[in-house]
Amino acid sequence: MFEPPEFKQLSEQILGRTTADVEKALSCKRPELANLAALLSPAAEPYLQQMAARASEITLNRFGRTTQLYAPIYLSNYCTNRCVYCGFSADNHIKRKCLTLDAAESEAAILHDRGFRHILLVSGEAENAVNVEYMEAIALRLRDKFAAVSIEIQPLSTEDYHRLFLAGITAVAVYQETYDRDLYRKVHLSGKKTDYDYRLQTPARAAAAGMREVGIGPLLGLSDWRAEGLSIAHHLHWLRKQFWSTAFTVSFPRMRPAAGEFAPLQLVSERNLSQLIFALRLFDPDVGLLVSTREEARYRDGMIGLGPTRYSAGSCTAPGGYGDSDSEGEQFSVGDNRSLEEVCAAIRKKGFDPVYKDWDREFQHST
Ligand code: SF4
Repeated sequence: MFEPPEFKQLSEQILGRTTADVEKALSCKRPELANLAALLSPAAEPYLQQMAARASEITLNRFGRTTQLYAPIYLSNYCTNRCVYCGFSADNHIKRKCLTLDAAESEAAILHDRGFRHILLVSGEAENAVNVEYMEAIALRLRDKFAAVSIEIQPLSTEDYHRLFLAGITAVAVYQETYDRDLYRKVHLSGKKTDYDYRLQTPARAAAAGMREVGIGPLLGLSDWRAEGLSIAHHLHWLRKQFWSTAFTVSFPRMRPAAGEFAPLQLVSERNLSQLIFALRLFDPDVGLLVSTREEARYRDGMIGLGPTRYSAGSCTAPGGYGDSDSEGEQFSVGDNRSLEEVCAAIRKKGFDPVYKDWDREFQHST
């Protein structure tokens, strides 16, 4: 079982790092967890340009001049949890909708026609709306049309993840939201999500079930972003030791305006986000780093090649939103509203290739 270090101690550890610690970290070929604390510290802020250059070099070596693309399909905005920061929270009076299998397939067909070959199926956490049977049925319909079908739904058991893996789901994303256990209790008011430890062990269950890729991440804007970054690195480090053949990704969602109008508890600037991305790239050259349409076009374009490896594009966060642009009940408003073509043009302008597919089921070992 993964046991995260005490969050407040991580904060203190980071704040105690000096310029000398940062320079030592930058001189390491492969910074370790202790070095990462320095790279995440305020003392590293004057070294951002140097970190960006190193992150760019590592990303180019490992991933080439490419940016992978994906799009989310929101299946349902029903949720039985009350998370104070989320538009789908059971408390919020939004129009609720769960797509039928046919409607979900239609949304997927729209994205397929646009050129996407990697989709992420997202839903609120409500067993009575989206359960394993429903996800299995969708996976079986989509598995031959898409190279990769990822899910971001409620945490499941290893057995259920394995069942979905056999049906064609290739990846699972599950975000801890915050590794700060005390704050976690305060922002998750009711529902199954109040169980910090069950959620924390979910990435390991997904990997144990055979998923090709597992995504983790904090929701930036809840607690100290520096300590969240170090916590993620501890989690990643542990997961890599247990599951050497699984690919891992980290997302950095920053809070966006949403129903309920919850104000972020901590401000995380674009500069802070960049430092976090550069530091993690230096720490783990192989990890996929995702930047979604929560971020604005200007920022996303500027970060191409500097660490991130995968972008969402042309995203809609309301169930049924691709087929019906008037669909209500979005999870949050997006920051980059450009179409897939526009995002691809921006990627090419930077001298990179947009990649719609970097995996094929044919590569999958038999199970
Ligand atoms: S963050 Fe997830 S679990 Fe919490 S209210 Fe939103 S959809 Fe539900």
